[in-house]
Amino acid sequence: MTMPESATDDYDVVIGGASLAGSAAAILLARRGARVALLERRSDPEAYKVLCTHSITANAYPVLKEIGLVPDLEKAGAVHNDARWYTRWGWIEPRPAAGGPELPYAYNIRRSVLDPMIRDRAARTPGVDLLLGHQVSGLVTEGGRTVGVRASTPSGEREIRARLVVGADGKDSAVAKFAGVATREYENTRFAYLAHYRDLPLRDGIGHTWFLEPDMAYAFPNDDGVTVIAVVPDKKRLPDFREDLEGSFLAFVRALPDAPPIDSAERVSKIIGLVDYPLRSRRATAPGLALIGDAALTGDPLWGVGCGWALESAHWLTEAVGPAVTGRGDLDKSLAVYARRHRRRLGPHQNLAADFAKARPFNPLERLMFSAAARDASLARHMHLFASRLIGPLRFLNPLAVAKASAVNYRHRRTAA
Ligand SMILES: Cc1cc2nc3c(=O)[nH]c(=O)nc-3n(C[C@H](O)[C@H](O)[C@H](O)COP(=O)(O)OP(=O)(O)OC[C@H]3O[C@@H](n4cnc5c(N)ncnc54)[C@H](O)[C@@H]3O)c2cc1C
Repeated sequence: MTMPESATDDYDVVIGGASLAGSAAAILLARRGARVALLERRSDPEAYKVLCTHSITANAYPVLKEIGLVPDLEKAGAVHNDARWYTRWGWIEPRPAAGGPELPYAYNIRRSVLDPMIRDRAARTPGVDLLLGHQVSGLVTEGGRTVGVRASTPSGEREIRARLVVGADGKDSAVAKFAGVATREYENTRFAYLAHYRDLPLRDGIGHTWFLEPDMAYAFPNDDGVTVIAVVPDKKRLPDFREDLEGSFLAFVRALPDAPPIDSAERVSKIIGLVDYPLRSRRATAPGLALIGDAALTGDPLWGVGCGWALESAHWLTEAVGPAVTGRGDLDKSLAVYARRHRRRLGPHQNLAADFAKARPFNPLERLMFSAAARDASLARHMHLFASRLIGPLRFLNPLAVAKASAVNYRHRRTAA
């Protein structure tokens, strides 16, 4: 049923998807004076993304702080996402320099806590109308420009118009599809299974990541004493793995170097997983339209970076279009600024991730950097900045860092000899 013309709404911004990216963008844009319609297809305000390992990289901290979530996260028991990484050269253990500042961090917090928290914050932000049970079912266009959305709601079809439409509707973005934005896909030749445990203490109470070349594994302590364990093997192992899912999962974890004591822990979730999860990149803007979060770029879950980028891209968009969506600037130029920033910041990361998603072992440059980081404290901190997405691949692999890594390894070989 189509609602009568009089039911047509006008907003400055309409956002499809009220998860991390959409809720953050709604809060930030409304605080800059925009009237925002935030549409979420699910009706339950407590809905959350189940397929996630909940570790949010430190690049997201300034956004979490700006939207005012840090005190709530701390109160909810979010755990600082400090971690060590296993490599064949030993553990990389980033630690603050003596007398230096603490390492940048964000949080491990289950999405069952985080998603309702940020959505509720958006709903309580003056200027935001959170419309649950509203699924974007089409776009309204005029002269080749997006000027609104059509939404299926429990009471029928509805048209909502706005200066800017934002797709924050995740990796299968309907908004991108309706707008005809092309998707570039990269094969991911690993699969993943994860489960939640109680009574699973981790050494020093911090996260662990295992680079097993090509397989991967993770253990992250979360709020409420829950530890998330994930295994990410090469797809070649999938048929055998699936024959006895629980047995394979446990055997994989037991075989990890310095394995967490999984047999004495209690599993409190199903073992859930995904067997086909290609990486996706899309152009982040079109006339009258912007994409943020996974809708713009779906990375490899292996790196645990999507939540941070969902929050960061919401922030970049707000900075670029904030004035224009309230009629104080040129929207097309602002969108071009956002698109450029998104491409420059995330394009190089995605290229690297797409290559690593071929389930290959480390290449020579990665071998150099990871082995040296396992041997040298300052290179471990450098690695931490990269893993936290506070620096990009170009800065991570800058000539000085590569020279230092070479010198560390040269000294190591001489000492060993
Ligand atoms: C196995 C796995 C593990 C991961 N682990 C991590 C990790 O440890 N750390 C990390 O940072 N990232 C991780 N990620 C990635 C992370 O989950 C995503 O990057 C993140 O959720 C993206 O947020 P988003 O807001 O862009 O999209 P989503 O969280 O996917 O939200 C999209 C929202 O849009 C809504 N929606 C969809 N279609 C419509 C429509 N037509 N109309 C209205 N609403 C709609 C959905 O209901 C949903 O609420 C992992 C991913 C996977 C698969």
